[in-house]
Amino acid sequence: MAASEARDVPTELIIVGGGPAGCAAALMAASVGMRSVLVEADALCAKLQHIGAINNVVGGHSSGPELAAAIAKDLARTELCEIQLGVRAVQVQAYDDHVAVLLDGGSRLVAPYAVVATGVGPLGSGDVPWLTVPDGLLLPTLWGAKVPDDHHGPLLVIGADRPLGTFLRVHPALDLPVLVAYPPEDEYKVDEVRHDPRVTLNPIASLSVRAGANAQISAEWTDREGRQSTQSLAAAYLNLGSAPVPPAGAIVTDATGYCPPDHQHPRIMTAGDLRSSRFQRIMTAIGSGTEAALRAYYDLRGVPSP
Ligand SMILES: Cc1cc2nc3c(=O)[nH]c(=O)nc-3n(C[C@H](O)[C@H](O)[C@H](O)COP(=O)(O)OP(=O)(O)OC[C@H]3O[C@@H](n4cnc5c(N)ncnc54)[C@H](O)[C@@H]3O)c2cc1C
Repeated sequence: MAASEARDVPTELIIVGGGPAGCAAALMAASVGMRSVLVEADALCAKLQHIGAINNVVGGHSSGPELAAAIAKDLARTELCEIQLGVRAVQVQAYDDHVAVLLDGGSRLVAPYAVVATGVGPLGSGDVPWLTVPDGLLLPTLWGAKVPDDHHGPLLVIGADRPLGTFLRVHPALDLPVLVAYPPEDEYKVDEVRHDPRVTLNPIASLSVRAGANAQISAEWTDREGRQSTQSLAAAYLNLGSAPVPPAGAIVTDATGYCPPDHQHPRIMTAGDLRSSRFQRIMTAIGSGTEAALRAYYDLRGVPSP
């Protein structure tokens, strides 16, 4: 379709979030002739830029940045998706005959349907009851971490969420002990890393971290048998997991804060990591974004559900 023809097609879908789910929704919508506007607060597939090693995506992509570049190239080929980068959706509203999305610059987008795929964000030190970090000590999150060359001595990773496995794969030459302090609820996550010789698993009940002497970090913990220990470490990284980040307004959350598709207004489709803590993978995000766009397409064209 030529650019001028594409402009004549009305916008039928607003896509909030330009990760793998939102981009897949935009591509599928374009493939069935639907014009969409995609708003992304950061860059397309920004999260993938932090994933140095991928081992579960079909099609031969083994690095996040490479996959992000391929997805952006696919989207650039269609005239039917207008992409607005650096734009945050602050509110999504749903009505009988349309949805409206309010953007942080004050403008408002209107269309018959919206796909909301804003994903999850990392939990902070104040979000878990078993961790104490004093005000003013800002610990970096592991999933965006660049480990400085000048670390001498062990690293502390707080929590055993999946970015730990990625971190270890991305830093094969890192020759430092990695002490992983994790709560009972992370027990099932440690299998992926327990055989890495750099890792010492430290199942804890509670942990307190403060700045120590010589730019070190001092950690004091109580293990699951009630024994207390302290250790000085070169640095500490938060790896506590994540929480969904839906925009305000009409998006319905469940008891866990996630936004299942079947809880939403009929004109709003949620997709990707935002749906559930259970299916947070690139391929499931792509699949659900694709499905969301097709649902909007069939509804718009009046094709009844089988
Ligand atoms: C360290 C790490 C390693 C991982 N490794 C793997 C792996 O090896 N294999 C795998 O399958 N998965 C992996 N994942 C998970 C994978 O990255 C996610 O499942 C996938 O990115 C989910 O895609 P999504 O589109 O749902 O969400 P996201 O990729 O999080 O995209 C959501 C987008 O929405 C944007 N956004 C948020 N709020 C707003 C708003 N209000 N307005 C506009 N835009 C907004 C964000 O900027 C973001 O770009 C990893 C994740 C991490 C953190």
